[in-house]
Amino acid sequence: MDRGDLFVISAPSGAGKSTLCNRLMERLPGLVFSVSHTTRPPRKGEVDGKDYFFVSEKEFERLVTKGKFLEWARVHGHFYGTSRDHVMEFLSRGMDVILDIDVQGATQVREKFPGAVTIFILPPSWTVLEERLLRRGSEDMDSVRVRLRNALKEMEEVANYTYTIVNDKLNEATDNLVAIVVAVRCRTARVLASKIDMTALHPGPDSWFLK
Ligand code: 5GP
Repeated sequence: MDRGDLFVISAPSGAGKSTLCNRLMERLPGLVFSVSHTTRPPRKGEVDGKDYFFVSEKEFERLVTKGKFLEWARVHGHFYGTSRDHVMEFLSRGMDVILDIDVQGATQVREKFPGAVTIFILPPSWTVLEERLLRRGSEDMDSVRVRLRNALKEMEEVANYTYTIVNDKLNEATDNLVAIVVAVRCRTARVLASKIDMTALHPGPDSWFLK
């Protein structure tokens, strides 16, 4: 069975990562988004099991103790973790898996999966980041302040990522993200490991070339 690739996407809050991930999923088949567990309360409109698995701190701790997470971290005062079983199952089914996780989680994934493809999304400027976070209105002002403070630290990590996308123009940023995934899918090792029929690339008995 073919094995899929693991894509890690990180960005400071407000860089437009969720929008880009959604557009990527609409554009390319064969991708699956890994739904994380979190102790953060749901935002308006968020659906349990779709956006996140919303769990209590006690339940989260229990899952950590049982080794259920591929990686986990405390981000903006809440816990977030990636289910090991979900990711491994999708990869073994040949799906490409998208992890939308923070920089601490990305470090843990890099150690466990050196072949993971890591992508960092940058906003075009600090002003734009601030505007986007304030306009979004999904957090209270204290939360926005925490997220902005963390953004500064997170952006220091950009050099550790394989690819960087500056999300200035949404269409262009989407095209770049799609291009990265397509390029990974075209890697020689992956194409040769897939069920490509090499015999179809040799002249057969009816070939004009052999006559
Ligand atoms: P939000 O609360 O805005 O949905 O997410 C806050 C941050 O947590 C984002 O940077 C997001 O990428 C990160 N995050 C979401 N799920 C996970 C996860 O499973 N593990 C880690 N390490 N970070 C996560």
